[in-house]
Amino acid sequence: MPSLPEDLLARYHSVLQRLAQAETDAARPPGSARLVAVGKFHGAERMRPLLAAGQRLFGESRVQEAAAKWPALRAEVPDVELHLIGPLQSNKVRQAVSLFDVIETLDRPRLAEALAAEYARGDRRPACLIEVNIGAEPQKAGVLPERADQFIDDCRRRWGLPVRGLMCIPPEDGDPAPLFHRLAELAGRHGLPELSMGMSGDYPAAIAAGATLVRVGTAIFGARITS
Ligand SMILES: *Cc1c(COP(=O)(O)O)cnc(C)c1O
Repeated sequence: MPSLPEDLLARYHSVLQRLAQAETDAARPPGSARLVAVGKFHGAERMRPLLAAGQRLFGESRVQEAAAKWPALRAEVPDVELHLIGPLQSNKVRQAVSLFDVIETLDRPRLAEALAAEYARGDRRPACLIEVNIGAEPQKAGVLPERADQFIDDCRRRWGLPVRGLMCIPPEDGDPAPLFHRLAELAGRHGLPELSMGMSGDYPAAIAAGATLVRVGTAIFGARITS
């Protein structure tokens, strides 16, 4: 059952409230952790109540879906900020660069090269976050922790990419807090200001560890129906 817009807004406001509480608990300034509303698998009509309530920052995990959904919404609300939070194939780089303001999933040299080539070609240069496979899980996207220092340096110096921070998706099982702290430590070592970590189940813990972006889907939009 799709939920009513009122439910959607109630959940949205309660997420904002918990986020603000987590900032206070961590003695962090209000607004230092920003909510990325993850609208994947939900249609444009479910984004509109949030846009009307003032939400501007959104995340999508698929380039195709974002292309179908966001150009029309952007025409209505030009100051939307759209983040790519899902894997980016090199052959979708051009489209992603035209659609997204921030690419959170830079995780391999081939993608870095493709992004650098696209940035040199056109006039758009979306900021990048480097995705770190912080739990070193096999089969998971992200640069391995032991390769992260080198990859961060290469992205900045060799490819000249505008790297703003780091992103991670910790393993589903276990306490994510130590891994959040590890990502924060890595970002600190490189002087990177942005830390994208924390989802519906753990965003307060991520804020306690220094998250500046929390990516929340289910807690706002309800369960996704995926194929
Ligand atoms: C779907 C997704 C989220 C949001 O997850 P929820 O548990 O629904 O809040 C966050 N980050 C990434 C990378 C995702 O793919």
